[in-house]
Amino acid sequence: MLVVRNAVVGPFAANAYVVTCDRTGEAMLVDPGGEIPRILGLLPPGARVTRIVCTHGHIDHVAGATEAKDATGAPLSLHAGDEGWLEALPRQAEMFGFDPVVAPGVDHRPADGEVFRVGAFEGRVLHTPGHSPGSICLFFPEQRLLFTGDTLFAGSVGRTDLPGGDFDALHASIQEKLFPLGDDVRFHPGHGPAGVIGEERRSNPFVGEKPRRGRFL
Ligand SMILES: [Zn+2]
Ligand SMILES: [Zn+2]
Repeated sequence: MLVVRNAVVGPFAANAYVVTCDRTGEAMLVDPGGEIPRILGLLPPGARVTRIVCTHGHIDHVAGATEAKDATGAPLSLHAGDEGWLEALPRQAEMFGFDPVVAPGVDHRPADGEVFRVGAFEGRVLHTPGHSPGSICLFFPEQRLLFTGDTLFAGSVGRTDLPGGDFDALHASIQEKLFPLGDDVRFHPGHGPAGVIGEERRSNPFVGEKPRRGRFL
């Protein structure tokens, strides 16, 4: 199975995840937003990080990426659409009250539909623009497991008022790429508690079947 553990890190309380294959000990680190020693402390005994993925380029998901790369030697993946956010990382740090940050080197730019492995398990990249142009989600079909970054939260969605944000794109990403994955899929978002796709499809106030009243509150 895939063992999922998370730490809440940084001023914006972002979820960083370590996702470990219990058969091989290979692990993926998702959204190294800071406090890297604490995140790496979540690794099961004998596990090693072989892949680091940022779901998007906002500082609360990227601030610890350089440190995580140095500590693990693992390559970093970030979608090309968020290149601009990465370049703006030092300015983001200033604006949002983070310690000074050096933009990490990106080793791999994942494409929509790209297949990858964490040990014995196969995952798929979903490009889900809207919260930012290069936002991605990570789906493990057999495990019915999804990592949504700041695209979809339990009972909410990511903000779209930052540069490059687009509510219509976000709405389409969730409706066309996330909801069709299945009501039984459990998701781990970039902030807040885990959720279930079916619950969001029915009652999420921004993108669910109920009227989108939440948007205007
Ligand atoms: Zn974000
Ligand atoms: Zn965030």
